[in-house]
Amino acid sequence: MSNDEKPLSSSTAKIPVKTVKIHPAKNGKERYKPGDQIYVRKNSGFFQRLRQRMNLVYFAFFALLPWLQYNGHQAILFDISEQRFTLWSLTLWPQDLTLLAWFFIFGAFLLFFVTTFLGRVWCGYMCPQTVWTFIFIWFEEKIEGTANQRRKLDQQKMSGKKLWKKILKHASWLFFSLFTAMTFSGYFSPMSELFINIVTLDTTVTMATILAFFTFATYGNAGWMRETVCLHMCPYARFQSAMFDKDTLTVAYDNNRGENRGARARKQAPKELGLGDCIDCNLCVEVCPTGIDIRNGLQYECINCGSCVDACSTVMTKMKYNQGLIRYTTEHDLEGKKVHFVRSKLIGYAVVLVIMSTLLILEIVNRIPLSLDIIRDRTELAKENFNGEIENVFTLKILNMSQTDNVYKLSVKGIENTKWHGKQKIFVKAATVHTLPISISVDPYELKSYMTNITFAVEQVSPQDDVIIEHESRFFNKR
Ligand code: SF4
Ligand code: SF4
Repeated sequence: MSNDEKPLSSSTAKIPVKTVKIHPAKNGKERYKPGDQIYVRKNSGFFQRLRQRMNLVYFAFFALLPWLQYNGHQAILFDISEQRFTLWSLTLWPQDLTLLAWFFIFGAFLLFFVTTFLGRVWCGYMCPQTVWTFIFIWFEEKIEGTANQRRKLDQQKMSGKKLWKKILKHASWLFFSLFTAMTFSGYFSPMSELFINIVTLDTTVTMATILAFFTFATYGNAGWMRETVCLHMCPYARFQSAMFDKDTLTVAYDNNRGENRGARARKQAPKELGLGDCIDCNLCVEVCPTGIDIRNGLQYECINCGSCVDACSTVMTKMKYNQGLIRYTTEHDLEGKKVHFVRSKLIGYAVVLVIMSTLLILEIVNRIPLSLDIIRDRTELAKENFNGEIENVFTLKILNMSQTDNVYKLSVKGIENTKWHGKQKIFVKAATVHTLPISISVDPYELKSYMTNITFAVEQVSPQDDVIIEHESRFFNKR
């Protein structure tokens, strides 16, 4: 029974079921079962080169960005203890939550757009789990040899040589994991300080625990768990199929062209033997990092890395057949139907993306790097001072959210002839809060009711800038 469609029971009759025949591997067993060790065979080709180059750039950015300085501070720093994120000239505070919300919504729609258009390219080319797994496999190959050599080594009894190779492999993985953990921590704690603390073995217990956690998380994920993370832990793998349609570009095997599969001599014409183009060499399975056979159809385990595409293209070239038996294609293309790269779902995502990016830019451009909190004296809302005036006490918290030290002028409006008791010009260092206790007094004849709305204003006066914020409060009369 191959590729035939059967209706489900009446309650789910509209969902067609496609039954595919799972071909056993050449040794008569399924090559991969959950928990089996996968020995990924080394592979080369266009998509492998593309992935390696992208990964190199990606890794270089990851390793170098925490070292980058801008205007005397770390260019990118997500300082959780100080509750502020620095991105070059922009410092974000908890007050900038809407900006972060726009950013995350933008990221989500970008993911929807890319997944609908190009399938799981994120998984195959950019996901840290894939990038680090391939780096760890590189160490493995250098120390233990090819996939076959690694398989044989694992089947051998323990010997001095085997022990040495295993120690070397795990030491290299652990060292690289420590480097990853240190670099990753450098996004959350000033890198130069962190580096000195690590090399002088002078870290705090908290930092040492964080480093140990990320070191073992990297070692475990990229060294031991690998595809298990993609198959059983990654939520994206589970919901990405909801974004797929028949025009989504995915890696697929051309069943019509490939079947019947079977070995043949290069000179023999497949048609005469009743065969398709697949020579059943199993190479596409051996290079697959998730251990699946793409010839069994689209599977959620496939991370769209294109490794099987390269492997099969090499085989097709050697056999002097056309390339593309396994290729990036769409379901419509495989069915011989017209492919709609531009389609309503994609246009919808693109429109939302444009709106989101516009809102994000507007939010950044119009952002005022200054915040004011007003706390009233709750023990006594209003009191009468020695001059017979009504006085209210406030504590003003002025947060300089910019990256420069500034001078601010403070004022209040809403009631005529008020007197300000306390400083009216303050100097606030960059990224700090200035707490200022003040009081406002006024002749009782100026007060028309028990409670009057007033507005505090904070204006940046040095360096001169168009930064001003206002905050409403209330002034109380005595009962
Ligand atoms: S690499 Fe190509 S020819 Fe070889 S088994 Fe896979 S699909 Fe068939
Ligand atoms: S089936 Fe091909 S594209 Fe999918 S994960 Fe395996 S090698 Fe990568």
